[in-house]
Amino acid sequence: MSLDYTSLLLAVGFSAACLSLTLFGMWLTARSERFLLTWAISLVFVVGDIFIYDTYIDMPGRLLGIATLALLLLGFSTMLGAAYQFRTGGSPLPRTLWGCASLVVALPAMALGYDGLGFMFENLFAALLLFATAFEYWRGRNEAPALTIGITALYSATAISFMLCAGVLAWDGKLALGHAPSNWAEELSLIVVIASMTGIGALSLALNQGRLARHHRRNALTDPLTGLLNRRALFDMHGHLPVGAFTAVVVFDLDNFKAINDEFGHAAGDEVLKVFASELTGNLRQTDVAARMGGEEFALVLKRTLPETVEEAAERIRTAFATRLIETETGSLTCTVSAGFAFGGKEGLSFDKVLSAADKALYDAKRGGRNRVTASPFRRAG
Ligand code: GH3
Ligand code: MG
Ligand code: MG
Repeated sequence: MSLDYTSLLLAVGFSAACLSLTLFGMWLTARSERFLLTWAISLVFVVGDIFIYDTYIDMPGRLLGIATLALLLLGFSTMLGAAYQFRTGGSPLPRTLWGCASLVVALPAMALGYDGLGFMFENLFAALLLFATAFEYWRGRNEAPALTIGITALYSATAISFMLCAGVLAWDGKLALGHAPSNWAEELSLIVVIASMTGIGALSLALNQGRLARHHRRNALTDPLTGLLNRRALFDMHGHLPVGAFTAVVVFDLDNFKAINDEFGHAAGDEVLKVFASELTGNLRQTDVAARMGGEEFALVLKRTLPETVEEAAERIRTAFATRLIETETGSLTCTVSAGFAFGGKEGLSFDKVLSAADKALYDAKRGGRNRVTASPFRRAG
């Protein structure tokens, strides 16, 4: 079967144009995902290259040769920048400019009429840029291994096909061709590009959707003011598990917090909440979990622990917070906190039950005069 090279080339051009439009549309709906825009722009260069190259095949000329070479390398350099931007969130410019340095070598050959050499350089640098792009995804493989390794493989396959094109031109050794290169490697490369582009497009969009979903999930489980887990996250982690005899729940409630808001303002109140959250996290072991339950109430879940240890930990947090002078825009202030704690049971108690026992102990601490830690009388239950 003989392949119609021009039809294949136009097929690549149209599908790249569609992918570019899709990426641009996606960027419009999620502007913070800037790599989508960078990637869409890179494909505009590639599409430009393809249509100019198509003209070049019929009318080989120096200017068209320069344009097609420049657009392809510019496109692949920008694509490398987009991959870096996706992996790190950083600017795509350094990688793109670095990639464009290839033009310094490839363009003069084409401009001086050595189109054979020019196309060899073009294919060689295109391959290197695609390998570099593959490497970006490889470096980011921890995020979603199956998808990123798939993308790495597809970029690498495309890179190898360009390398073959460069290899065949080098083997022929003609510095000046006077027409577009036409050999088995060129045809193979087009087929690989068609297959890879579809795969890369689908896998990359799935990768980005997965990232967005994780991002939303993290937001839904995090308290924006303090960065601690929120109530829902704590219940997600512990709500369905029985609480054993060596696991404790401590609840904290800032004392007379309303008065601080009234006297110093809401922003100062927020500052106090942040300070308390930092006291809480500063005193955690790896297995401990801290959460903001809402308002000025916080909770700690401590595993593999004993009543004395829990009391000590809660006391440490209470005293550290009480002695801390908190600077706010409207003045310096101090605040205290009350805490109550309760343990699970040998047979395992529901998280709800332990939490409400700790809440009752907290209520006792408030009634007892505040700024103190109280144990639930049921703490040795079970
Ligand atoms: P107690 O010692 O009995 O706990 O008294 P309290 O004043 O701390 O308790 P109360 O429940 O009367 O008041 C809690 C206040 O916390 C009321 C509410 O305006 C304030 N608050 C809740 N969430 C926030 C927040 O995110 N930021 C600020 N600044 N204030 C908050
Ligand atoms: Mg409260
Ligand atoms: Mg309070």
